[in-house]
Amino acid sequence: MRVFSLESVIEEFEALTNDAGRLQTESLRKILEQNGEAEYLRNLGLGGRTDPESFRACVPLVTHRDLEPYIQRIADGDASPVLTGKPITSISLSSGTTQGKPKFLPFNDELVQSTMQIYRTSFAFRNREHPIGNGKALQFIYSSRQVKTKGGLIATTATTNVYRSEQFKRTMKDIQSQCTSPDEVIFGPDFQQSLYCHLLCGLIYSNEVQIISSTFAHSIVHAFRTLEQVWEELCMDIREGVLSSRITVPSIRSAVSKLLIPNPSLADSIYNKCVRLSNWYGVIPELWPNAKYVYGIMTGSMEPYLKKLRHYAGSLPLMSADYGSSEGWIGANVNPSLIPELATFAVLPNIGYFEFIPLEKPEQQEQELENSASTIHYIESEPVGLTEVEVDKEYEIVVTNFAGLYRYRLGDVVRVAGFHNSTPELQFICRRSLVLSINIDKNTEKDLQLAVEEAAKLLAAEKLEVVDFTSHVDTSTEPGHYVIFWELSSDTTEEVLRSCCNCLDLSFVDAGYMGSRKVGTIGPLELRVVRKKTFEKILEHFLGLGGAMNQFKTPRFVSLSNSKVLQILCRNVTRCYFSTAYDI
Ligand code: AMP
Repeated sequence: MRVFSLESVIEEFEALTNDAGRLQTESLRKILEQNGEAEYLRNLGLGGRTDPESFRACVPLVTHRDLEPYIQRIADGDASPVLTGKPITSISLSSGTTQGKPKFLPFNDELVQSTMQIYRTSFAFRNREHPIGNGKALQFIYSSRQVKTKGGLIATTATTNVYRSEQFKRTMKDIQSQCTSPDEVIFGPDFQQSLYCHLLCGLIYSNEVQIISSTFAHSIVHAFRTLEQVWEELCMDIREGVLSSRITVPSIRSAVSKLLIPNPSLADSIYNKCVRLSNWYGVIPELWPNAKYVYGIMTGSMEPYLKKLRHYAGSLPLMSADYGSSEGWIGANVNPSLIPELATFAVLPNIGYFEFIPLEKPEQQEQELENSASTIHYIESEPVGLTEVEVDKEYEIVVTNFAGLYRYRLGDVVRVAGFHNSTPELQFICRRSLVLSINIDKNTEKDLQLAVEEAAKLLAAEKLEVVDFTSHVDTSTEPGHYVIFWELSSDTTEEVLRSCCNCLDLSFVDAGYMGSRKVGTIGPLELRVVRKKTFEKILEHFLGLGGAMNQFKTPRFVSLSNSKVLQILCRNVTRCYFSTAYDI
């Protein structure tokens, strides 16, 4: 029998991070030894060398676009070693929410191993502060469609690839996070039905639930918004022991029906708790009295959901989960008591070879010269190694890992917050790509988020909230202007919305934007309010493309080429306002 000891996980982590420099060289050597014979590396003339200097000299920095033809060949069934020595076992589809279509990435067993290592590590640290006994986790997790590629490989989201693995269940058991729902719910074909059943199973086992979690915070918020709508129906199912007729998928029906027995006293208790709540504040600890914390990725593009999540979580702590991507994992959150806004991720030096491109914001003048790039313009220097990064500086991460990525630019900007032993602790800043740019103006999704937060303060007095938001650049008229789409929790006056619109315009404080607004080379910002549930339609559209709820991130910018999403938004506009903030 395997014995899982939290102390030994922590010891192992301390040993790894104490020796980060050597382990990096070691990881690179292993990666290159395993894959040196693969076509991609063979053609770069490494000639069997595995040291960092030769590697950096021979292997170019790449983006996804450079690797796409290789990954496509693997997906099409080329069985020769293309990117890796051992064959790639499946293809992961990254969320690709921003581009509007998922990207293909290689997936193999090594990625499963590192996922488990990350899960165990952060759990060990979490458990030190908030120990949980034997119990269950209400996890809002969903697998996505699994399709076969032309070459017969399974292509699905990275999270689904992980859930499919043998080790996932074992690890979840080790870390006392067994899901309250049966597999049929996680792997069900209809997301809405799975969500309903997650809630139902969570309530059936309400006394045993110790953790409420999901991959991204957005899914937790979405789940509780749904609970607000369906709670009476859930109570009825529990009272009568009969599953609602809305669940039509036979596999889900039969699996969940087995767990349902008439339980009027549980139904009454849930009912009474729900009616007593004030605007659903603290619903999580109320309905799950033994829950110790709420867990999921809460950083980056998930930050806008924190307010609502805190509302639902009441007194329970929020714990931000780890940092990774479909490309591979980066780091674990080993300081779980930090609030999500300050969360950091300690890089595990044995799961890949990491480089960091130093990014410096240029002086104003240069910034104005540079106006064609679609990524935010920084002055870049040569990449540095994991142990060479400096505290407080910003970097773009470059990944080399066991799944066939070599010097792959991840496109994420991180800041080094400090060190844990000799490995850096990273703070996620934003995706590097710009979301809003017309000419010399440059705004990232973080800038957009800050502007929306600022303007949303004007709604607080009205007890209103921004349910979700996105942006667009309208260049159909001269000059072009920013468009911000808002879905609101309920209606408000024209006066309030006009002031929100002006506030948004004034909250983009990038010098390029302010200058252009003043001289009129960018037109007044437009706020378009959309009908309730519009963002749910976007989510459904994304799921229809084969995306998974788990990896869904609301696109914070919708370009003309993402025409379907733009159409959904535009069709649902109820009101629009133009800023007068720069009128003289
Ligand atoms: P995906 O395309 O679904 O693989 O998403 C990967 C991207 O999600 C990363 O490149 C990050 O931009 C973002 N991401 C993943 N983990 C975190 C995190 N802990 N904090 C912020 N953003 C994250």
